[in-house]
Amino acid sequence: MNEMLPLSYINQYAYCPRRFWYMYVEGEMIENVHVLRGVQNHERAHTPGYETVSSGVRIHRRVYVYSHALQITGFCDLIEEHEDGALAPVEYKQGKQGKWDNDEAQLCAQALCLEEMTGRQIGHGHIFYFGSRRRVTVDFTPDLRAQTVETIEAMQRTLALGLIPPHTEKQARCRGCSLHEICLPQETLQLSTQPGDHR
Ligand code: SF4
Repeated sequence: MNEMLPLSYINQYAYCPRRFWYMYVEGEMIENVHVLRGVQNHERAHTPGYETVSSGVRIHRRVYVYSHALQITGFCDLIEEHEDGALAPVEYKQGKQGKWDNDEAQLCAQALCLEEMTGRQIGHGHIFYFGSRRRVTVDFTPDLRAQTVETIEAMQRTLALGLIPPHTEKQARCRGCSLHEICLPQETLQLSTQPGDHR
C-alpha cells in the first residue's frame, strides 16, 4: 500500500524529482532568504479560522484536506466559499509567478482533495504571489487534472523504487533551486564527461 504523501511535495516533484527526493526522503532544506520570506508570508496566511467578507464570500483559513483515492494529505492556505456553495482553493506563494507549472499542480491537488471530501465540483482556484502582489486564476482543466494525478503516481513510483532520481534535464530550473549547493548539477555533469570516462 502507498504511503499518504504531503501534497505540498507535489510542487517539489513537478519542479524536479531529485529536489523532491532531497527534501522529502533526505530532509534537506537550505534556509536561504527566499525560503525564510516564504515561511513568514505563509505564517500570515496560516492562521486557522474563517471570516465572511463583504461580497458574501466566506473565507476558510488553513484547512486540512485529504484524498484517500490519491493517497495525499495537506493543507489549503485558504478556501473561498461562495453563496452558491462553490469552493475555490487559494494558495499563497513567495516571489512571482514562475515559468513552470508546479504551483498549478499543487493547487489542483488541493481541489481534487476538496472534491473527494465534499462531493462538489471545483472549476478553478487562485494563487497569490507575494512578490508581484498578483492573484492568478487557475482553471482545473482535464489536462491539469491528469498531469497532477500523473505527478502523484510518479512520486509513489519513485519512493517504491528507492533510488534518488537523476538531475533534471531542464537545467534552467537549477539556477533557482535552493538545493543547488547540495546537488551540484554542473559539477556532476563535468565529472561524468571528463576524458577517459566512457560511461
Ligand atoms: S539543482 Fe537542479 S537537479 Fe538538483 S535538485 Fe535542484 S533543480 Fe533538481
